[in-house]
Amino acid sequence: MAVRPVVVWPDDRLRQPSVAIERFDADVRALYQDLVDSMYAENGLGIAALQLGDNRRMFIVEPELAGRAKTDPPVAFCNPEVVETSEEQQDSEEGCLSFPDIYIKVKRPMRAKVRAQDLAGNWFELEGSALLARCLLHEYDHLTGKLLVDFVGPLKRTMIKKKLTKLKGAEASASELGDG
Ligand SMILES: [Zn+2]
Repeated sequence: MAVRPVVVWPDDRLRQPSVAIERFDADVRALYQDLVDSMYAENGLGIAALQLGDNRRMFIVEPELAGRAKTDPPVAFCNPEVVETSEEQQDSEEGCLSFPDIYIKVKRPMRAKVRAQDLAGNWFELEGSALLARCLLHEYDHLTGKLLVDFVGPLKRTMIKKKLTKLKGAEASASELGDG
């Protein structure tokens, strides 16, 4: 229904505790639609509700990556749980819409199985490997307040903070100019 601005780190809203979805009503479907619109606007593979400043436990994943047809709607994961991960690991660079232009090497399990409720409240399971496993675990991390910067040391963290704070400042003054 609407593209909403993605919350960029450091912003406390990314760390707020998330709450379970209890009623699968029009309100939840509206949140899903905002997530879909915002994810596509930013060319993301997935996005979590906390990234729009909403603390309900939901994330979505791009349909093709989730094993559906390209033309299918993105897959909604409400109240997700990680039920299984492989011993085997993968190690590659990861990005996040809340960290524009930042890529960080993150070690993750090669396979992951997630259990979640769809928009009607029905439970389902999805197992993924490689990029899908990475995406599922990354989005799940968001719901627990865990972020990309938690995988780096203090020095790199400070560098990232500087870069993103500067970016935010530049955007703020650009929009001021635009409004004036
Ligand atoms: Zn992210």
